[in-house]
Amino acid sequence: MWKDDNSKIQQLWERFLNKTDRYPCNCPICERKSAHIYMHRQQGKKGAAWMWCSECCHCCHGTMMIPEWWDDDTFIDVYKTASHPDYLETQKVEIDCYVNKVLDDMRIL
Ligand SMILES: [Zn+2]
Repeated sequence: MWKDDNSKIQQLWERFLNKTDRYPCNCPICERKSAHIYMHRQQGKKGAAWMWCSECCHCCHGTMMIPEWWDDDTFIDVYKTASHPDYLETQKVEIDCYVNKVLDDMRIL
């Protein structure tokens, strides 16, 4: 189901760092408003990040430098995550809401 062979999906990371999107956002591949992002800090500045689209099912997962202003959530069980976002897809409404809230808090500061 998931396709991790198109690096265009990584544009979501740049857009996240620039705080230009609200989620779900337009997918860089199929352009439908179904793209999501999620990350979880591991140690220090690095963490695991996922970007995926619920419509065209392109995704990517990798270790990223997590921005200092990012606060980890408490509702995702990281032990259920895997390289493909099956579990995250089931939690996408909460994830989108949470990411939007972190970004809104940043914009106010
Ligand atoms: Zn897509």
